[in-house]
Amino acid sequence: MPTLFTRIIDREIPADIVYEDEHVVAFRDIQPQAPVHVLIVPRTEIAGLASLPEEGDHRHLLNAAKVIAEQLGLTNGYRLVINQGADGGQTIDHLHAHLLGGRALEWPPG
Ligand code: 5GP
Repeated sequence: MPTLFTRIIDREIPADIVYEDEHVVAFRDIQPQAPVHVLIVPRTEIAGLASLPEEGDHRHLLNAAKVIAEQLGLTNGYRLVINQGADGGQTIDHLHAHLLGGRALEWPPG
């Protein structure tokens, strides 16, 4: 079964896609936690950060985050978050990073 995010990537489920390249697709979170809340998802179905292969070029996600932040005008800063597993609060088992910005974010997170 394809993941929910693969179905969004394949345009089977609608989403507000803000960026895509050959490696990642990024779309707005359905329950935004900040004025800007974008999910950056590798096209490859990797279950989570704990399943990331040791080999490979993993810069794509970070590079995309930087480009998207610039495109969305987050000149005052932003946060990139990857939730892993139950304690991390991960609910979708397809690796993704949350790009949050547009307001001052508190630290530490809950
Ligand atoms: P996680 O909790 O796994 O780190 O993040 C999953 C995120 O996916 C959540 O922030 C949740 O709001 C978002 N999400 C869940 N279902 C959908 C959906 O159908 N569309 C979009 N755009 N986001 C979703």
